[in-house]
Amino acid sequence: MPARRIVVIGGGVMGSAAAWRLAARGGEVTLLERFRPGHDRGSSYGTSRIFRLAYADPFYVDLAVRSLPLWRRLEEETGRQVLSLTGAVDHGPAAVTDALFETLTAAGRPVERMVPDQVAERWPGLRADTGAVFHPEAGRLHADDAVAAFQQAARAHGAEVRHGVRVTGVRVLDSGGVRVVAEAGEEWTADAVVVAVGGWTPALLGDGASAPVSGLPALRVTQEQPAHFPAADPLSWPSFIHHPGAALPATGRSTDGVYGLGSTDGVKAGFHGIGPVVDPDHRDRTPDAATLDALAAYAERWLPGVDPTAPDPLTCLYTTTVDHDFLVDRQGPVTVLGGCSGHAFKFASVLGELAASLVHGEPGPSRFALGPRPRPRPAV
Ligand SMILES: Cc1cc2nc3c(=O)[nH]c(=O)nc-3n(C[C@H](O)[C@H](O)[C@H](O)COP(=O)(O)OP(=O)(O)OC[C@H]3O[C@@H](n4cnc5c(N)ncnc54)[C@H](O)[C@@H]3O)c2cc1C
Repeated sequence: MPARRIVVIGGGVMGSAAAWRLAARGGEVTLLERFRPGHDRGSSYGTSRIFRLAYADPFYVDLAVRSLPLWRRLEEETGRQVLSLTGAVDHGPAAVTDALFETLTAAGRPVERMVPDQVAERWPGLRADTGAVFHPEAGRLHADDAVAAFQQAARAHGAEVRHGVRVTGVRVLDSGGVRVVAEAGEEWTADAVVVAVGGWTPALLGDGASAPVSGLPALRVTQEQPAHFPAADPLSWPSFIHHPGAALPATGRSTDGVYGLGSTDGVKAGFHGIGPVVDPDHRDRTPDAATLDALAAYAERWLPGVDPTAPDPLTCLYTTTVDHDFLVDRQGPVTVLGGCSGHAFKFASVLGELAASLVHGEPGPSRFALGPRPRPRPAV
């Protein structure tokens, strides 16, 4: 029997996207978010996230391609622009950029090889390493606007969106449905629930005998710390990924490289996935001085178009699986949408659709399944 009544827990980008897609399918949807709209406690806030198709793994290229029309549909339904295509430069070891070139070409997407001098000529603010590729179907998602747009679109399809409601328990009922309990004792009985609580997933779903799902894979919750740098005309910048292994050493703070893009707050740059493990409810959001110094030193060498002396840092959560694949799976009436591993914002539109299809009994990708993740993989 199709799920009629669905509760979505978590109003970050994932839960909001799922609420939209579920409501669009005609479900009676309630979205419950613990904090106020636009809050800065989780993973989805701020003015920018990179959108790009360039992954060495064709699976993620395909997923990003599938997300594009859904981002555009969100814009059409809400009248808000959330995605600006300014292109993306990937640079670093030639073997890495060659692999990206080949994967994008095989997928039939436009991509061009560049040498560092061509990059400097076209974007004087950016200094490129040994190999470089540019693809135009990339750019900037406005994060806060995207979350608000998903919620607006969900409401337009009849969803109820509530903030300031902290869910404390999810119980699978013998009748086949599910009961969701909130802090103030309020309860909802539903046919299905989508749990999209980011860094709070282990806390809410736990791993005891009474856990509503079994086989929750290990999730590492870390506090990451990019910074915005002042720059002239930041919105004209392409997004960029500097892959380590050539002039940028694959050690220390650069193990997984540096990402960045222009935004209304300046040019954002950050080391990918180097932050300390934290408890999302008890973390010190004070910026780490050594990370900030390392980022400023990076900017001084590689970002001649920014003022490296005036970084403005922010902190944000990654919830990372061992293989960096997301967690999107259903067990009975409970669908889990998480494990976003620091690279999922660009896919939110299609992951919301995927969660909705799981709720309706359709199969999902096996690599996003609950259960152990035995294969550590290099970051994507
Ligand atoms: C610094 C940084 C840079 C990033 N850059 C990129 C990028 O350039 N491109 C890209 O694709 N991805 C990027 N990402 C990753 C992307 O932002 C995340 O994958 C995505 O935002 C995860 O969204 P979420 O909805 O799972 O988590 P969240 O946004 O944390 O949402 C979870 C929500 O659940 C709520 N919640 C928790 N517990 C409860 C409860 N008990 N009851 C009710 N509500 C609850 C929380 O308050 C929160 O709002 C970046 C992430 C960070 C941190």
